[in-house]
Amino acid sequence: MQLAFIGGNTLVNIEKVGVIGAGQMGNGIAHVCALAGFSVRLNDMTEDRIVAGLATINGNMTRQVSKGQITDDERKAALERIEPAVQLSRFGECDLVIEAASENEEVKRKIYTVLCPNLKPEALIASNTSSISITRLASATDRPEQFIGIHFMNPVPLMQLVEVIRGIATADETFKASQQFIERLGKTWTMSEDFPAFIVNRILLPMINEAVYTLYEGVGSVEDIDTAMRLGANHPMGPLQLADFIGLDTCLSVMQVLHEGLADSKYRPCPLLVKYVEAGWLGKKVKRGFYDYRSGTPVPTR
Ligand code: NAD
Repeated sequence: MQLAFIGGNTLVNIEKVGVIGAGQMGNGIAHVCALAGFSVRLNDMTEDRIVAGLATINGNMTRQVSKGQITDDERKAALERIEPAVQLSRFGECDLVIEAASENEEVKRKIYTVLCPNLKPEALIASNTSSISITRLASATDRPEQFIGIHFMNPVPLMQLVEVIRGIATADETFKASQQFIERLGKTWTMSEDFPAFIVNRILLPMINEAVYTLYEGVGSVEDIDTAMRLGANHPMGPLQLADFIGLDTCLSVMQVLHEGLADSKYRPCPLLVKYVEAGWLGKKVKRGFYDYRSGTPVPTR
């Protein structure tokens, strides 16, 4: 049982977690919460998307069973703890709601407008946003003190880190409850102030953007750049391979947030990255980015 003290006087047990968005991040968050014993409500725009999210969770948990990381009974029990919820009116009992819907401020604001009247007063709201201001998102809710950024890494079941981002109004109690929640998931948190792209993406994305400049200026080929960083800097993946994995549209969007939010030309998105996104070559999810994945073996596209 986990305790959260809201407003200094109300005691809340975080037991029920609502997850909004059953996409790649939302289903991963529901997965780790259910395995850690939380009861989960999973929402998306349609029942089909929730069903697809649940199928992904089952597939990923089945892989964990085959690797001996969890037992089949644990998989079954965790799946039983996840309840599909097409309507946010089903979130009334949630102690914490994690919003992991598409990275679009208008979409997130609209969700909070519908969500808030359905919540109990002491419930906390977290956003999994990669780059949008937590302070600004909090202002779209009726409880900025109980709003926080809880930024999981992709893929959620495998990645150890969770960034916690405090908005200007986030109460200490909300922050403490979030820390305890992340620890109960068996993950490690870092604390970040609310500045564009927080810590990980603030450092990682300019490196990826620089790798694209290195390609753009002809300093090296796709393979040479990736091999150089894997073997020369001991990175598990080359930066262009990693960009394909994250999604080139996501990479571009984070660079734009950094460029606009910090008004520094050093964050200028590389024109070649823009060109790949305009071509629809968004990386692994569409089978083409800096590598072409259509034949099964990645082939550099430049
Ligand atoms: P995704 O496109 O895989 O999933 C988003 C889901 O949100 C979709 O299933 C969509 O149907 C749903 N959605 C959209 N509008 C909705 C609404 N009004 N109500 C309910 N559901 C709605 O995207 P994702 O990669 O899972 O990203 C989700 C969030 O997580 C974003 O804020 C993103 O920035 C953040 N994030 C992504 C990554 C990553 O590597 N992809 C990493 C960390 C954080």
